[in-house]
Formats: sequence, structure tokens, C-alpha cells
Amino acid sequence: MRALIVEKDDEGKTSASVQEIEESRLPEGEVTVAVEYSTVNYKDGLCIGPGGGLVRNYPHVPGIDFAGTVEASDDPRYKAGDKVVLTGWRVGEAHWGGYAEKARVKADWLVPLPDGLSTRAAMAVGTAGFTAMLAVMALEKHGLKPGQGPVLVTGASGGVGSVATAILAKLGYEVAGVTGRPESADYLRDLGATQIVARDEIAETVKRPLESETWAGCVDAVGGAMLARVLGQMKYGASVAAVGLAGGAGLPATVVPFLLRGVNLLGIDSVMQPYENRLEAWKRVATDLPMKKLEAMIKPATLADLPGLGAEILKGQVRGRVVVDVNA
Ligand code: NDP
Repeated sequence: MRALIVEKDDEGKTSASVQEIEESRLPEGEVTVAVEYSTVNYKDGLCIGPGGGLVRNYPHVPGIDFAGTVEASDDPRYKAGDKVVLTGWRVGEAHWGGYAEKARVKADWLVPLPDGLSTRAAMAVGTAGFTAMLAVMALEKHGLKPGQGPVLVTGASGGVGSVATAILAKLGYEVAGVTGRPESADYLRDLGATQIVARDEIAETVKRPLESETWAGCVDAVGGAMLARVLGQMKYGASVAAVGLAGGAGLPATVVPFLLRGVNLLGIDSVMQPYENRLEAWKRVATDLPMKKLEAMIKPATLADLPGLGAEILKGQVRGRVVVDVNA
């Protein structure tokens, strides 16, 4: 089988290359999956390159998510031929991941692919899109409905942001996308954004703890000063789903928006999400994400492209969703 193998030399320097390896080297697990597609996330960029403290052992096969067909299973929940998707559980970090023609994993980590979603579409969605869906579900659970005002999406042209924009627009929300790339405006409008907010306008640290009530909800992929600023611009009782830290892990905020406007800050984790929520989120993806729009976000790639793409995503240069055909 072919796999992207990351090795570490005596000086601690990592290098990644596509190699032929014996299938017997796959880690232990109940289910062997013939991987069809994977994708590229920020964490993958770290695991293909310097490791970022995520990878425990080398040689390593990265790829934090994949979709494919079950080849063999020791678990009654899965049989050969079933289409499955996997995100999270530290696969691609602590456990060998999806950048290979085959993967062996625990049955608990898999989710059956819902009807209407191909393995390729599932990876166009990937961890980023799945997390965007979880964020939208959390906002809905906290009372968000169309017609309440614009919903802000930060880091809008990235993976999480692109999918969140498309889902929210399909569900009937007015979407405002924050981007640092003016050339992404048309792309975001095509996904359904009706307002483009320049990153500079909203990237500064909080000046006043409360500004005018503007956003009915927010999917935030950026964190840092931008998240702090957004909290003070939320409408009364509105919620922000905190997904990412593309702009920093700090939160230079005040508690005033929570106390005076009842604003909610909702944490979104995709890695350890319980099975029932995963199932629901993937089903919602199949119904709520416009597949034609998803198609427009896809940038096709092969295993050999991954070292370059890993470096690009760490520099914030990847737009939309990379879909890696591991058999190409
Ligand atoms: P991408 O790199 O695809 O997108 C991030 C976007 O954020 C960029 O495209 C850019 O958008 C914007 N951005 C980048 N750097 C900055 C900056 N310094 N300041 C402001 N905006 C910036 O990543 P993903 O969409 O895949 O992931 C987004 C975040 O979510 C990451 O931090 C990731 O680790 C996290 N994540 C969390 C998950 C969870 O379980 N909670 C799951 C998946 C991802 P633009 O060019 O439009 O400005």
C-alpha cells in the first residue's frame, strides 16, 4: 500500500515522502478501511511538518480525517463494503491516519456515511465542515433562527468558514463573512455571504467593551483579539460558537458582554464529540450543505501534493477545501 510517511532524523528534523509499505505495518484496530479520500487541515500541516507536539511516534502517517469503504471488520457494527467517515479521536496524530491507501482504526471512531453523501463529498466537508455543522447546531440549540439579523463567520474563506457560510446561507440566514483576503469576496458571495467584512475592521483588541448590537450569531474560526471584539458587537442574548484559533489562542476580552447583554460563548470540539452528535451532524451535512456550492470549494490533490499543501495551510494560504484522492 502507498502512504505518506513522515520520518524524523537524529537532529529532530522531519521529512515527508510517499512510500510503498507493507499492510502489516498498520496499527491495531477492529476495522480496516480502504481509504478513498482525505483532506488537509491546519493540524495536518503540523503533522506533515514539524509535528507541533501532536505526533508521538515516528515514522508516522498523518491525515486527521478520511472516508472510504470497509475492507474487513472484527466488529459487528461494520461489514465489508460499508461506506464510512472518520474525524477526530487523535487519528493522524497519535494513531496512523488517512494519508494512505488503507487505515486500521477502532470501530468506535467511525461513522456510517449518510445517504446522499459520497466519500469525496464527505472529505470536501472533512473535519472543518463537520465542525462548522456542529457550530451551527450549537447556535440553533441556543435559539438562533433565520430573520434575527446577520450571522458573522470569521476566517470565512478557510475550511470551517467556507462550509459555515454555505450551510448558514442554505438555511436562510443572512451571512456576513470576515476575510483578510479581498480577492475572496466573490468566492464568499458565491457561497451565499451577503456582506463582506474586511479583517482589519474587526481585528483590533477591544476598545469599548460594548459596541452597537450587530450580529445575531457568530461562527468564529479565528479567536484572539477578533473574538474579543465580536463579543461586544453581539445582539442581546446572542451566541458565538468558538471553533478555532487561526488568529491566536488568547482572549483579550472583558466579561461585560456576558453580564450586560447575556451573550453566550459556546465551545465547539470536534475531536471527542459523542457518537450520537456525530451521526446527527453528518446527517445534517447531507441535507443542509448545498452540494453544488461544495463542489465549487474543492481543490483536488494527491498524496504527493501533501508536503507542499501542509506548508501552505500553516501559512493561511489554502482557500476552501482540499480533497486528497489517496489512490491517484
Ligand atoms: P484554514 O486555515 O482553512 O482557515 C482559517 C482562516 O482564518 C484563514 O483562511 C483566514 O481566513 C483566517 N485567518 C488566518 N490567519 C488569521 C489571522 N492571523 N487573523 C485573522 N484571521 C486569520 O483553517 P480551518 O478553517 O480548517 O480551521 C480554522 C480554525 O479552526 C483553526 O484554528 C483550526 O485549528 C480550528 N479547528 C478546530 C476544530 C475544533 O474541533 N474545534 C476542528 C477544525 C478546525 P481569511 O483569509 O478569509 O481571512
